Amino acid sequence: MYRTNTCGELRIGDVGKKVTLAGWVQRIRKMGSLNFVDLRDRYGITQLVAEDNADAKVLEVIRGLGREFVIQTEGVVCERQSKNPKMPTGDIEIKIEKITILNAAETPPFTIEDQTDGGEDIRGKYRYIDLRRNPLQKALALRHRMAIETRKYLDSQDFMEIETPFLIKSTPEGARDFVVPSRMNPGEFYALPQSPQTFKQLLMVAGYDRYFQIVRCFRDEDLRADRQPEFTQIDCEMSFVEREDVLQMFEGLVKHLFKSVLKKDFAEPFERMTYDEAMEYYGSDKPDLRFGMQIHDITSCVQGKGFSVFDTAEYVGAISVTGCAAYSRKQTDELTEWVKRPQIGAKGLIFIKYGEEIKSSVDKFYTPEQLSKIAEKCHAEKGDLILILCGAKRKTQTALGTLRLEMGNRLGLRNPEEFKPLWITDFPLLEWDEETARFYAMHHPFTSPKPEDMEKFYSKDKNQLAAVKANAYDIVLNGNEIGGGSIRIYDRKVQERMFEILGFTQEQAQYRFGFLMNAFKYGAPPHGGIAFGFDRLCALFGGQETIRDYIAFPKNNTGRDIMADAPSVIDNSQMDELFLKSTFKKEEQ
Ligand code: ASP
Repeated sequence: MYRTNTCGELRIGDVGKKVTLAGWVQRIRKMGSLNFVDLRDRYGITQLVAEDNADAKVLEVIRGLGREFVIQTEGVVCERQSKNPKMPTGDIEIKIEKITILNAAETPPFTIEDQTDGGEDIRGKYRYIDLRRNPLQKALALRHRMAIETRKYLDSQDFMEIETPFLIKSTPEGARDFVVPSRMNPGEFYALPQSPQTFKQLLMVAGYDRYFQIVRCFRDEDLRADRQPEFTQIDCEMSFVEREDVLQMFEGLVKHLFKSVLKKDFAEPFERMTYDEAMEYYGSDKPDLRFGMQIHDITSCVQGKGFSVFDTAEYVGAISVTGCAAYSRKQTDELTEWVKRPQIGAKGLIFIKYGEEIKSSVDKFYTPEQLSKIAEKCHAEKGDLILILCGAKRKTQTALGTLRLEMGNRLGLRNPEEFKPLWITDFPLLEWDEETARFYAMHHPFTSPKPEDMEKFYSKDKNQLAAVKANAYDIVLNGNEIGGGSIRIYDRKVQERMFEILGFTQEQAQYRFGFLMNAFKYGAPPHGGIAFGFDRLCALFGGQETIRDYIAFPKNNTGRDIMADAPSVIDNSQMDELFLKSTFKKEEQ
């Protein structure tokens, strides 16, 4: 037997027991006549000790130990002279009787401590060593718990976990597909799924009326911060449901996770907001509700007073920042520079300081009474700083939304241990893209229009189409979209119309999605569903911003596996077998 106990297990009640432990050497130190070894495994650290007059063989082995050696030891549990109340095993130590090196280790390239000295790259290269560290073990344990609790809840609600294929047909709508050449079908390619969307809908046609899967998805996108080319979803679909049924069911899931994993109760239903409201008041379709600081439309109160910047703007909006009226010139200048950065793209920032007096950067154009009116419109109180941006409506709202988050950060209003989930509903069905001069589905092409917008959906008028709302919803947590879904189209004619709006010819629609359209001929039930971004959900539950620590083997921010060094070139013979070379040649000719 390699071990009788783990390194996190033994307590004062075990004193006198003879035990065998195995693990990694965390630390070796000598104090007077005592030789200490801290032994670590997944469960904790236990202190081993041998006196200078111990068995010579034992002492010799101890002298030869280094950090991260794998050892086994046998000994008796003893009460410690000086206890360590910070360690669960801090009352005891093991008096070594026998010690064996199971495997020596080179000195690790960084320390295995909570605050390690290793940089991002080196830790990525030696991920298996980084994974020995506590914060990562905790993150993966949380992820495991989340997966188990998700399965428990969905199983209790009669959902079936069904696997769908990874080698599928390329459906180039949405993000870019990763493709896989088929050796047995020269010149043809599979795609890796961006999500199991079409398969879960086919499962509904097949009568499996509650499906879920914790499933890997692949998107070949340019990597934005904290995105992974492969990521995990909790993917779900239900039949014979309306929007309300889906929202209730998955609000139930999120509440179950909060309760079982974080011991947090949410008695109240989650807040709900339409997409239009979210944009209007928070300048974002994923508002962070941990703090207020809503956006106010002050266009009508500032125009017509001779300030041409405002007079010519489509929209003027403001946020009121609590307690910042005393900001210095330097601070407001710095904020102005901040909003002018290309990511925000504002031309300038106008502010009102609502202190003992009311003062603004546009005092020339506004009397104190008029400034007070604006402050009132912004629900500002004495001591607040009002920040104003103007320009095209949506763009300015978005900029104000970003500024709002920044001020929330600066004022410490975004506490990672506080949770504010909400639903966003009534998204636009379609987005117009100027560059390609066509509509794209805002969610995906299988999302149903809202029933009351069906007439507009059949209109030939671009503006009417742009106004169609989708029967789609997102769930948002602390400013992050953690899931999204919709009630689906299940009528073949409606689906055909959708493809038509998206600019597909009938042949193209048939070629790409014929299997789904055909299935709709054979008794498709009304259905809808949702998918959660599992990595992000775990990170947020862990109070972290980045998902990388919650994935055992993530890619770096250029999409590389720097440990195994992938992607990599393949042999010419492999290329030939896959007909890749010949394809290249053909194109070059
Ligand atoms: N398949 C969708 C997605 O990945 C989610 C859904 O509509 O259920 O975003």
